[in-house]
Amino acid sequence: MTSPAPDALLKHIRQGHRFLLTSHVNPDGDAIGSALGAARVLRSLGKSATIWLRDPLPTVYAALPGAARIHVGEQPPAGFPESFDTLWALECPSADRTGLPSAFAAGLTVLNTDHHLGNEHYGTVNWIDTASPACGELVLRIAKGLSASLDEDAATCLYLALVSDTGGFRFSNATTLAFEAGADLVRHGAKPERVSQWLNESQPEAAIRLLGAMIGTLVLHHGGKIATVKLTQEMLRAAHASQGDAEGLVDTPRSIAGVELTALVRGLGDGRSKVSLRSRGEIDVQSVVLRHGGGGHRNAAGCTLDGDEDSVLALLLPELEQAVGT
Ligand code: 5GP
Ligand code: MN
Repeated sequence: MTSPAPDALLKHIRQGHRFLLTSHVNPDGDAIGSALGAARVLRSLGKSATIWLRDPLPTVYAALPGAARIHVGEQPPAGFPESFDTLWALECPSADRTGLPSAFAAGLTVLNTDHHLGNEHYGTVNWIDTASPACGELVLRIAKGLSASLDEDAATCLYLALVSDTGGFRFSNATTLAFEAGADLVRHGAKPERVSQWLNESQPEAAIRLLGAMIGTLVLHHGGKIATVKLTQEMLRAAHASQGDAEGLVDTPRSIAGVELTALVRGLGDGRSKVSLRSRGEIDVQSVVLRHGGGGHRNAAGCTLDGDEDSVLALLLPELEQAVGT
């Protein structure tokens, strides 16, 4: 049975008036959909809600209802901090992951809602449910706990969060809970075909050109069980792409028969590289990135390491082979 959202959290949401919502750097569909959905739920209760993200949204999410109002960048939104009483972090295992230390230094009540393993419980109130398929599903349970009315746009944003984190109800987190939440959101007016268009048919040309360049770097290791790919700053420039256009590209090498673990290493242009890992079934990539200060889930995890793409790949390969086993 699914547990309802905890009373302590609901109490703080009821008591708050002016909310500042945030999520992690390089925001993905769950981060953006959860924040937009939660903001609409808060506004339906007569509260004010501003979303502040450090990094820009990948282009495919630009059409989401409310996306244009998201405040992006390291500089705080107007009125910060005096116009806010509550900081609500969604989908962030640590305060650092927001990339916005000043948001946490302002002394606001901090709500921490997440489904990541290893969440650091940095909030005034923490609700971490690692059995949840997406943070958007937690926001749905919160809306129910508050008896808030979910409008079509809120339901659509939360549905996008759910579809994004379950890979369109295909991954191991596509549990009965995920399908039940999906059905519930569609009942509230979520539009699956709109979400599918945004996620699957709204890529900028640059993202597809980047995919082509990335596939050119594909190498299979460990008897074909591990696929590695790279993205360099040079490839980004040649494709006229931004970092956000790389979101989701790591999923493509998973479609090769026999591949059980995929690694994408992206050079960040500052001497560091961002690693994205994906795995099948019992293969645990989270334990690999935990050794390097990263985080995520068993089958999808990431970290940032010093070094260029090749040196980071060389460093990680033995650990990836160990994770896959024989
Ligand atoms: P992605 O590979 O798409 O960036 O991330 C996959 C999963 O791992 C997501 O749940 C994401 O939040 C998490 N993740 C990626 N990079 C990091 C990181 O550097 N630190 C932590 N804590 N989690 C990460
Ligand atoms: Mn998530």
